[in-house]
Amino acid sequence: MIAVWFSCGAASAAALKLTIERYGVDQVRAVNNPIEEEDKDNKRFMRDVSDWCGIEIESARSSRYPTQSCIDVWNDRKAMSFIHGAPCTKHLKKDARYEWERANKPDWHVLGFTVDERSRHEGFIRSERENVLPVLIDAGMTKSDCAMMIRRAGLVLPNLYAMGYPNANCIGCVKATSPTYWNLVRRTHPEQFKERAEQSRSLNVRLVRYRGKRIFLDELPADAKGYKLKSMPECGLFCEEK
Ligand code: SF4
Repeated sequence: MIAVWFSCGAASAAALKLTIERYGVDQVRAVNNPIEEEDKDNKRFMRDVSDWCGIEIESARSSRYPTQSCIDVWNDRKAMSFIHGAPCTKHLKKDARYEWERANKPDWHVLGFTVDERSRHEGFIRSERENVLPVLIDAGMTKSDCAMMIRRAGLVLPNLYAMGYPNANCIGCVKATSPTYWNLVRRTHPEQFKERAEQSRSLNVRLVRYRGKRIFLDELPADAKGYKLKSMPECGLFCEEK
């Protein structure tokens, strides 16, 4: 049995389609970690992908945090991001995946690592699981190839892409440190920006890096810019800081 981990992003949607075409739908289970702080349109995209691929997409949830809410995790852990990654990814994605794996025992995993993310794939093999099928890498597909495949199939990507985001991660993802990213959140989702600014202040977390040092979100000038957003990865099953 092959578990395809669907994150509501373009790459994992393409990976699911290719895996089913290559191995047959009977060999595949599609699994998603639902997260409260994601844009609601992600759910619409998940239903569209489910119809396109002809497969039900299951949920893997955390038994420790049944709300699947990052805000609850941050409050409980009194932290929003660590040097090694974010606690929300750890509890709501990684640990929830472990629980699903223990119950369902997949033989293989497929993730949305594209050919331009070979080092992330290799890191995952080294640190997490050896039994990963590099479906998108074998097919030589980049992130933009995946987006094109989705569009050609007549599917509309999650709303966040049209707003300028490089993935369908949570709105106000604490993995991001870029001023460009946070000022985009401020423009497109002012309420979530305010919420992250207030919570990070109360937990003493400096989420953004500006002019070489970490600062609080409420200190970030509204016109500040950093690097381009396209290099920011999808929130995967392990977490790198960007
Ligand atoms: S997308 Fe960001 S905020 Fe959401 S779970 Fe992943 S690391 Fe946490």
